[in-house]
Amino acid sequence: MKIGVLAVQGDFALHEKTLHALGVETIQVRKPEHLDGCSGLIMPGGESTTFVKLLKEVDLFDALKQFGREKVIFGTCAGLITLAHEIVNYPLETLDLIQIQVARNAYGRQIDSFIDTVQVKTGDTAFEVEGVFIRAPKIVEVGEGTQAIGFRGDEIVMAENEHILVATFHPELTDDTRIHNYFLQKVKQMQ
Ligand code: GLN
Repeated sequence: MKIGVLAVQGDFALHEKTLHALGVETIQVRKPEHLDGCSGLIMPGGESTTFVKLLKEVDLFDALKQFGREKVIFGTCAGLITLAHEIVNYPLETLDLIQIQVARNAYGRQIDSFIDTVQVKTGDTAFEVEGVFIRAPKIVEVGEGTQAIGFRGDEIVMAENEHILVATFHPELTDDTRIHNYFLQKVKQMQ
């Protein structure tokens, strides 16, 4: 199994490191042909406005839209914003692959980065992880066909549909591999 890690911008290297620790082969995705043979893709944190601009420049915008209808994509932070249906506080065309509405930079200046406990609850799994939030977005609404699966208190910080998994925090910044492992299980189910 080979997993693509979007490498046009942002913190892709640590996602690769985590996947390597789990024994998975990766490829840095910078153009559409890099997606060939990938069973899944990670879209890392970074800056969503820059992502969208660069994705269009290298013809990955439409290629990712298609990829996400057939394979599994995991987006963290700016990756989540780029995959969302709509950004409520910023006009940016998104990939619209998961029915969530998000607010960018939603925690304000005072606490724009912090660490807090996240409860992950999916069908038959429940566990706690340390969530690293960096100028993070908030998921303000989860729509049809989409499940909330990660919580920080009352806040939804992780969601998924059949093909797309998203987190507002950065699981690649801790040594805990369980979220990446959950993504890999999802990829395997789709194969
Ligand atoms: N604030 C960034 C954005 O709006 C996301 C930050 C991140 O990816 N850590 O795109």
